[in-house]
This record gives sequence, C-alpha cells and structure tokens, in this order.
Amino acid sequence: MEAALLNMMYAAVIHRHGGPEVISYEEFARPEPGPGEALIRVRATSLNRLDLWARSGPPGPVFPWKEPDFPIISGSDCAGEVAAVGPGVAGVRPGQRVVLYPSLYCGQCAYCQAGEQTQCLDYHIVGEHTHGAMAEYVVAPAANLLPLPDHVHFVEAAAMPVAYTTAWRMLVVAGNLRPSQSVLVLGAGGGVGSAAILLARRAGATVYAAASTSLRRDVAIETGAKAAVDPAAGPFSEWVLTQTSGRGVDVVVDPLGATWQESIRSLARGGRLVVCGATLGNRPEFDIREVYQRHRSIHGAPMGNWTDFTNVMNLLFRGELSPAIDHVYPLSQVVAAHRRAESRDGFGKIVLTM
Ligand SMILES: [Zn+2]
Repeated sequence: MEAALLNMMYAAVIHRHGGPEVISYEEFARPEPGPGEALIRVRATSLNRLDLWARSGPPGPVFPWKEPDFPIISGSDCAGEVAAVGPGVAGVRPGQRVVLYPSLYCGQCAYCQAGEQTQCLDYHIVGEHTHGAMAEYVVAPAANLLPLPDHVHFVEAAAMPVAYTTAWRMLVVAGNLRPSQSVLVLGAGGGVGSAAILLARRAGATVYAAASTSLRRDVAIETGAKAAVDPAAGPFSEWVLTQTSGRGVDVVVDPLGATWQESIRSLARGGRLVVCGATLGNRPEFDIREVYQRHRSIHGAPMGNWTDFTNVMNLLFRGELSPAIDHVYPLSQVVAAHRRAESRDGFGKIVLTM
C-alpha cells in the first residue's frame, strides 16, 4: 500500500552480473506510460534464457550483445491487466486483461511493413532493452497487447509468448513441418524444447526428443515424444537414424548450437535445421558438404512475428493447447526460480506471479 502511494512498486532488480543471489526483490520506481504506451499491472511472467543472461552475462562471445546499464529488470513474458494508458492510445482500456507480445520494432522499415517485426532494422525486446515484467508494473507499446479471454489463466498466458512463439516460428514457418513428417527436439525439457514437442505433436508430426536427464526424457515421452535419447550417451544422429530406419528426420529443433554436426547428420535429405539459440556454444564444427550434398538447410528463428504470436496464443484461448509448466513461484522467490532454471531439474516453463 505504502509503495503504491509513493509511485513505487516491488520488482526483481539486477544490480550487477553474478549468480542468482545478485537479484534483489526490492522497491523500484513505477514506470509511467508515454505516448502510445500502456502501463500493465503484471499478474504473471516467466523465465527465459534472456533472464538468466541478463543476470549472469552471456557465457561467451555473443552476437549481437550490448552490456546493460544497471540496475535492470528483466522479464519478456507478461500477462496482466492494463492499469493506465498514455496519450494517443486507442483500442485498450484500463482494467482489460492482456498478454504482451514483447518484440519492440519501428513499424516503418521494409521488414516491419512486410509483417516481420522480429526482422526489424531497429529490433529490441521488452526485458532486455527496456525494463521488463519481473515487477508489479511494466510499460509497453499498447499495440503489442493482445486481449486475454476471461477463461484463460494469467499463469498459462505468461508461460507462452517467447517460448511458444519461437517454437511455432521454428516448426511451422522456418521448418515448414507437415503432419506426416518427423522432428527431433534438442533441449527437450527447456521452455522452447517443451513447447516444440507440444506444437509438433499437435501438428501431427512424429517427435523424437533429446534431453540430458532421465526425468526430462520421461516427461518428453509423456508429453508426446515417440522416443527420447540422452545426448551424452554417444552420437545422437546414430540413434535418430536407427529410430527412422536410416532415413533421418525432416526437422531438427536446435537451441544448443554446439550440437550442429550431430543435428545435421540427423536430418533426412531436404531436412531443415532450425536454430533459436546456442546455449551450449556458438562455434560448432560441421562439414558444409553434409549440408548441401543432401539438400539440407539451416534457418535462424530467434522469435516469431505478431502473426506467429497470435496463432500460438489462439491455441491456448481455444483450449487446444496447454503449456508445459514446471513450477510457479511468487516473484518474491525469484532467486529460487533462477536456481531451479539453472538446475535443469524440471520440464517446461518456470512462471512467477505477483
Ligand atoms: Zn522496423
């Protein structure tokens, strides 16, 4: 109450790079919405790789990367209610339940005009380049808000924007996955990996999964994967070829990077390697001949556009998809949430509520 009176809010504030213990749950100035912006009362947010990097710094040389100006508040996923709107905002009103599309883009360049917001020449994202949703309030462009139907829970909505929009982009747009086809999902227990299993199964594809813990492999199979492999047990492409009678899979979802050689060898002729990250290393060695001689291709898909976002959110709104959620913490336990994310103990998204 006192914080609200003083235009303050509680937030998970990062003052410097370090372990989870550098995050401080403390009072911070509440932001004000500018022209075209809305102030959102955050009800739920969720952790992504970006949140871990905002705190720890990237694990090695990363392109593109700009060191943040501390203190920062991370958090790209956000579901909540509109608390106030800035000048010139039409289409959303205070009290409305919303979910945020976190991409920030100019709206003017050729890529934006073509509807490819994430290819914008001036691309940013809420929670990395602006203060994010690990707080009681966040400011974002009003045009980025999608109304949230009354029957949809904030927790489920907040689990989806970054991970599920990215997974949709990888499978449906970049991967051009068809119902009769097959896909290998690496990092199967993570946010994007678990999303990819659910979306690929829903698309009618046969799913193979790779995950480093037996718990994650078991849950991947419960979630719809036909079989799962431990990538540390040997070259996983040999396992994939055995599973597919020597053919290989049509799409590999690879958020890991260091795995490219094995991912490429897992592909059928004409197969697509789709890439949204390089969490295990961004300088893989691989043989270029193994790409072009088999008509294979490599596609970058760091995040999806507005259409991808609305397509995937509508699956939730229509009750056709429920995101995999590992754990829900109150924001005051943000340190424990980061520790859980780094442990790789769970399966699916870690959500924080206010
Ligand atoms: Zn643009």
